[in-house]
Amino acid sequence: MPWQAGPPPPALGGTARAVATPLPRIDRVPATAYIATMALRDILILPDKRLRQVSEPVKKIDAGIRKLIEDMFETMYEAPGIGLAAIQVGTPKRIITMDLAKKEEPKNPQVFINPEILWTSEEKATYEEGCLSIPEYYSDVERPAQVRVKYLDREGEPREIEANGLFATCLQHEIDHLNGILFIDHLSKLKRDRVLKKFTKAARRAAE
Ligand SMILES: [Zn+2]
Repeated sequence: MPWQAGPPPPALGGTARAVATPLPRIDRVPATAYIATMALRDILILPDKRLRQVSEPVKKIDAGIRKLIEDMFETMYEAPGIGLAAIQVGTPKRIITMDLAKKEEPKNPQVFINPEILWTSEEKATYEEGCLSIPEYYSDVERPAQVRVKYLDREGEPREIEANGLFATCLQHEIDHLNGILFIDHLSKLKRDRVLKKFTKAARRAAE
């Protein structure tokens, strides 16, 4: 989900943000410089068919998965967004990155691997949602107000949380992505078709 406070996020449009070389982070001691390489990944945009894929569970948290998670955070913060599913950067793995910290608060990066909704409340809540894969489109979505979710953390430890408010909505939005579901699927057919048409046209124009 995109960051919604303040000015609208920079237009991502259908343009791919290709980063030719990873950004090196170099400290002040060249001889022993620790160089961490992170890379922005391109965010898939509606109507990219890959967004409809059902993602596979992560079997082992290896170096590739850790790198993917780092890149997802990098890409999410850059967008800027508060939540990102791996499939949005074209990798069909059940991984979500999230940071719901407000601008003045310290960063709070959270990773959910193989998340599963165990319980949802009868009570509903409505939030205006957006999606980094559907840039600059926002609409109210009603979802259960609370959810209980089990998942693996970055170290592969099983965890369980109960979420409410924006956290609950964001978890449901991102878990939907892992099942090939987009927030526009929760809107009326009329609204959804209108958005689809607009993005299909834009993609066609960009391809010309
Ligand atoms: Zn989304």
